[in-house]
Amino acid sequence: MILPGGTLGVLGGGQLGRMFTAEARRMGYRVIVVEPTADAPAAQLADRHIIKPWTDTEALDEVAMRCDAVTTEFENVPADVLRALAAHLPVHPSGDAVAITQDRVTEKAFLNHADIATAAWAPMPDATAGATAWDAIGGGPAILKTARMGYDGKGQARLQQRAELDRAFASLGGAPCILERQVDLAKEISVLVARDQHGTCVTWPVGENVHHGGILHSTVVPAGIPDTIAEAARAAAIRIATSLSYVGVLAVEFFVTTDGHVLANELAPRPHNSGHWTLDAAATSQFEQQVRVLAGLPLGDTSLLSPVAMINLLGDLWAGGEPRWERALAVPGVRLHLYGKRDPRAGRKMGHLTATAADAATALHRAEAAFAALTP
Ligand code: ATP
Ligand code: MG
Repeated sequence: MILPGGTLGVLGGGQLGRMFTAEARRMGYRVIVVEPTADAPAAQLADRHIIKPWTDTEALDEVAMRCDAVTTEFENVPADVLRALAAHLPVHPSGDAVAITQDRVTEKAFLNHADIATAAWAPMPDATAGATAWDAIGGGPAILKTARMGYDGKGQARLQQRAELDRAFASLGGAPCILERQVDLAKEISVLVARDQHGTCVTWPVGENVHHGGILHSTVVPAGIPDTIAEAARAAAIRIATSLSYVGVLAVEFFVTTDGHVLANELAPRPHNSGHWTLDAAATSQFEQQVRVLAGLPLGDTSLLSPVAMINLLGDLWAGGEPRWERALAVPGVRLHLYGKRDPRAGRKMGHLTATAADAATALHRAEAAFAALTP
């Protein structure tokens, strides 16, 4: 057990690391962030910022020497870096678990092997594999995704006909891909699960997600889905964490199809944007839970304290000048989270806001009203 006063390391310096750092420091831990960019969101709050790449031996030596345990906030830290650190100190999640989620082909194969349903998919490692993949998924409409490094809908192409496949593959740079059957979505939901070193799992109430232009726009909790579907998704998330021997906080995105099936879409081996609401409306936030699991402390209560809605604040909001924070904060139940990023590029996640209310519909209404009020 690593008690408050101990030092926790985090690989990656983005907003997820920032919120982890804030929770860890609130609980009395010291935090060392490894992140190659200066003035990164997590680095602004950390006790120490090692401004070096994750692969830098000096950086990793310092982490091994000064930290009591280490975690990651970015799924593309090389799995071998996590494996190498694990020879010196506890590392959660493990390099092996993270490696599976770094590639959509190994991820989907793992899910199906664990008896978790997904959309029909086939690997497309190169251009010659197109015809076989197209037939294997039963034809279009389909989505081609790069196997590695995709996020926020980047590295994806949608296609109706087999004839479009070659051009789509080339448009993604010729990198190895996965071809997925496009399913008819009734809803998108996600489940956060935490699993500790003894194998105990807890899940938070299910969130309902809306994406705009491939980027998460809003999450509402509780999700507007039947209890049977929520229970199926929570059970699937626990089975996934257990099959991965996962230790830490893991997010699972699911599709609920128009014919009522629950299909796993993708895994994030870390806290997730769709779990940011837990800071304001759950007994234990996803970030505090990441601290607890890493430190070997008891898992915290995941109960929902109030219906809540979260809306992302992208750089686009700054197009006409500084957003009108005072107007959003005049809406009852609203809380503001900004990540300390200086450059508000279009599509960049700059912060989020949440709104609580007596019911989910009112929470969403408040969050949307606050969001609309921000535009100068
Ligand atoms: P994230 O930002 O969550 O990491 P991503 O870029 O990794 O996103 P996905 O989550 O795979 O990509 O896809 C982004 C969105 O595209 C999904 O949330 C969903 O709306 C849509 N989508 C992806 N795959 C499918 C599918 N097989 N059928 C229907 N819609 C899909
Ligand atoms: Mg996704």
